Amino acid sequence: MSRIHLLSPRLANQIAAGEVVERPASVIKEILENSLDAGATKIDLDVEQGGVKLMRIRDNGEGIDRDDLPLALSRHATSKITVLEDLEAVGSLGFRGEALASISSVSRLTLTSRQADQESAWQVHTEGRDMEAQLEPAAHPQGTTVEVKDLFFNTPARRKFLKTEKTEFRHLDEVLKRLALSRFDVAFQLSHNGKVIHQLRQAQSEIEQERRVASICGSAFIDNALKADVIAEASGLRLWGWVGLPTFSRSQADLQYFFVNGRMIRDKVVTHAVRQAYADVLYHGRHPAYVLYLELDPSLVDVNVHPTKHEVRFRESRLVHDFLFRTLHRLIADMRPQDQMQTLESGVGESVPQQPRKPIAEQNYEQGRMTFRPATRMSDSYSSSSYRSEAPAAVSQIREQISGYAALHPDGGSSDVVDGSRGRDQESDQCPPMGYAIAQLHGVYILAENEQGLVVVDMHAAHERIVYERMKHSYEEDVVRSQPLLVPMSLAVSQREADCAEEQADTFRRLGFELARMGEETLVVRQVPVSLSKGNVEILIRDVLSDMLVYGESKRIEQHINELLATMACHGAVRANRQLTLPEMNALLRDMEQTERSGQCNHGRPTWSQMSMADLDKLFMRGQ
Ligand code: ADP
Ligand code: MG
Repeated sequence: MSRIHLLSPRLANQIAAGEVVERPASVIKEILENSLDAGATKIDLDVEQGGVKLMRIRDNGEGIDRDDLPLALSRHATSKITVLEDLEAVGSLGFRGEALASISSVSRLTLTSRQADQESAWQVHTEGRDMEAQLEPAAHPQGTTVEVKDLFFNTPARRKFLKTEKTEFRHLDEVLKRLALSRFDVAFQLSHNGKVIHQLRQAQSEIEQERRVASICGSAFIDNALKADVIAEASGLRLWGWVGLPTFSRSQADLQYFFVNGRMIRDKVVTHAVRQAYADVLYHGRHPAYVLYLELDPSLVDVNVHPTKHEVRFRESRLVHDFLFRTLHRLIADMRPQDQMQTLESGVGESVPQQPRKPIAEQNYEQGRMTFRPATRMSDSYSSSSYRSEAPAAVSQIREQISGYAALHPDGGSSDVVDGSRGRDQESDQCPPMGYAIAQLHGVYILAENEQGLVVVDMHAAHERIVYERMKHSYEEDVVRSQPLLVPMSLAVSQREADCAEEQADTFRRLGFELARMGEETLVVRQVPVSLSKGNVEILIRDVLSDMLVYGESKRIEQHINELLATMACHGAVRANRQLTLPEMNALLRDMEQTERSGQCNHGRPTWSQMSMADLDKLFMRGQ
């Protein structure tokens, strides 16, 4: 080994560049963040060959003082923090003073800048030599241009890791998209090999913001998303943005943007909270889509945990997790057919929503309780009609006693509330969002007519969700009602199943069953949940038992109680091929409007679909 010596600045920077500069996209990220930190309102990017040949970024920010120009390229040189305490509440995106030094050590870099009060612009250029920058006069309006040429020209080993031009450009483009979503007040333009890829004007109003989201995430996303805006008053946390409907889920987690105080991050706490919030409504293996902004006191989050600052650390991660989970969970639960309907109204292929959607969640979040205001016009008028206002708890109990819709109307108790037999709502001339049933198709689908046109409902899937939500509710409140069997039923089971039934006697009781063990391999069933009593009790109990065995010890059963209830709900839901009368079908439609998460069945598949008159006209080429 040779003697110890200090590394040359160039080598030290090249080593540091290993952390920060991985590919053209990471250069773009650092340089764009500098422009934003400099207060730019307009940023233009010109890129050649995926960024490897050239990246030129010009901003109209405050610029750099002539004498500071060489310093900007040195390591540990920053204008953004001075003392350690500043780190506690960093407001800027950068603060490490490393980016320009690192980038200039592995490329040919020119930095040109002019401040408002300077007579002319100045320029420094480096070729990764000894980092000795030469200062020269230049022509440039107020602001800064950074030109990065021939990335990794002097570090061939790193150059080998670069992918194709197309791939590098895709990464770079993704960086721009994230930053463009983080700052609606800044205009961005990106050209690749002379071709304009993005031209994003400043977006102040909500419509303009939605237009930007649409042009970055696709118009289908914004057409299938709800706007949210919720503030937790006690902690000062605010969450706003756009949340995709569960039916707009994706096979990849590629449409998930989460910003913390304007910084795009990937964080385990956040991902977990979001996944949990969608857990009950997403088809297995699908990923939700969202563009969300969390704002909180900067001192509650540590951004200095990763060189590229992709990760953050929340000082109170539990609080953040709960807030995110509860807000999104509620938002998703409150999505009603009418929300989906409204997004459909804006028309297929339209990138600009015709009218701004109001936030579904208004800014009320006090002492752990939230109040949400439904977003849609339809539901506003709907709630004034008799259905919603007159649906007291007693009625839902009565309804719970009824297994299928076929049994609904002989029962007097519910008829004045869910009076499916009436043709139109007499008080208001409003047609309810899901409309009125006109027929049943092959015992599987309900066809209904609403203001937009035709609604097709998967009868079993929709009813399954309704029964499931009701069961979850009753289970939580411990008010699942049970009913004795006329003749107790004896059931031959395995010894394991009998053991399980014995151990889980209390869970069974809460679920509405009364079971007893009669022998090594025999159970006797005395009571079953009212809502399921019309089904096949034997198969039901076997299914519940086998679920319980899969989930294992008691702790985990409690964790999987929703899956268990879903199994049970499936038994309680109307079967295909059951003939329903029009009033029964209308009652189901009205229930869908009232039920949480009714747009998806328990497995995350859609329960209904709308065909508008325009869709139908297109089908028949009417008016063309
Ligand atoms: P950091 O952003 O962490 O401070 P950088 O190496 O990225 O470190 O930049 C060094 C300094 O150069 C910044 O602190 C800032 O003062 C200045 N700077 C860089 N880019 C710009 C720009 N586009 N406009 C104005 N100042 C800039
Ligand atoms: Mg920086």
